[in-house]
Amino acid sequence: MAKRDYYDVLGVKKNASPEELKSAYRKLAVKYHPDKNPGNKTAEDKFKEASEAYGVLSDKSKKENYDNFGHAAFENGGGGRGGFSGFSGFSGADFSDIFEDFFGDIGGGGRRSSRGRSSNSRGSDLRYDLTITLEEAYLGKKQNIQFSTSEKCNTCKGNGSKPGFSPDRCSYCGGSGKIRSNQGFFTVQQTCPQCAGVGEEITNPCTDCNGQGNKQASKKISVTIPKGVDDGTRIRLAGKGEAGVRGGASGDLYLFINVKSHDLFKRSDVNLFFEFPISIADAALGTTIEIPTIDGKKAKIKIPDGTQDGKQFRLKGKGMPFMRRTEFGDLYVQVKTEVPVSLNKEQKELLERFRKIENEKSNPSIKKFFQKAKSFWNS
Ligand SMILES: [Zn+2]
Ligand SMILES: [Zn+2]
Repeated sequence: MAKRDYYDVLGVKKNASPEELKSAYRKLAVKYHPDKNPGNKTAEDKFKEASEAYGVLSDKSKKENYDNFGHAAFENGGGGRGGFSGFSGFSGADFSDIFEDFFGDIGGGGRRSSRGRSSNSRGSDLRYDLTITLEEAYLGKKQNIQFSTSEKCNTCKGNGSKPGFSPDRCSYCGGSGKIRSNQGFFTVQQTCPQCAGVGEEITNPCTDCNGQGNKQASKKISVTIPKGVDDGTRIRLAGKGEAGVRGGASGDLYLFINVKSHDLFKRSDVNLFFEFPISIADAALGTTIEIPTIDGKKAKIKIPDGTQDGKQFRLKGKGMPFMRRTEFGDLYVQVKTEVPVSLNKEQKELLERFRKIENEKSNPSIKKFFQKAKSFWNS
């Protein structure tokens, strides 16, 4: 059977960039990897075919040869092995990062990234949930937080060896931090399981940390909550997470802010809202009201006569601060007229008198409604 064109195998155009080639190959490799398709011959063949194609196309000089001569470029007398005549030359191809990523995914080994030694031993990120009040979100604040984390061991300075001793080269990987294993037709490079990619072995472990280089400890830090944080704001404190393994970078600490709901103020982004109940007499005659603001002070609003229920007043700049800016949102005060209840005798008499002298002019909406209703009944 004729061999398929390598570009067709990967499903890319002839002018595909190295990134496109890699991504196309990675997709196929993940889909057809033998570990995922045990006993499936078709998948295995597809996997080999894709690996072969990528092995050639990811190598500049092999690609050039292939582009010029096609499959014939690799059939220099060794054609007895059918479709894999070109395969033996792959060891130099750029598989390592693909397969490291890939096995990381499948194995779920908890490694964040597989690139380089230091990232192998980076400490974990931590999450800390912090609940604050709306007033605290308005003012911003400094807060001490305490949490349990792994910290660099002071006795061994994090290298895991007893003071005076130093780690040996890892006997399993010879110090490279990586091991190669043969998987069918090609070689896979993986992180050394013995030393987790560090390349060293502790022969005289520090007694304080049992050679880990890190110890579990309770850590206390002071954090600054910026003005204007909202419910759900996430603050990253770089390097404040768990210590890395033997010199690796520390993880980050993520502060998740939860802002408690307020009795008076409702928040929407940087604006605040609240409802202010007033009597119908105040709404009808007009008045001046004094309202609380989030800064703990008071503000005055003039309610004009004839103010209807639901009317909103805006107080510019009396809302929440924008994060890391000097501007503020607004405060919206919504008037809620309260119909009086439990009237005494005098109040009832006055309202009875008022009802008698009420006229259409003082209730334009009612007048309008009855006009509409009348024309509806008449038509
Ligand atoms: Zn130690
Ligand atoms: Zn090793």
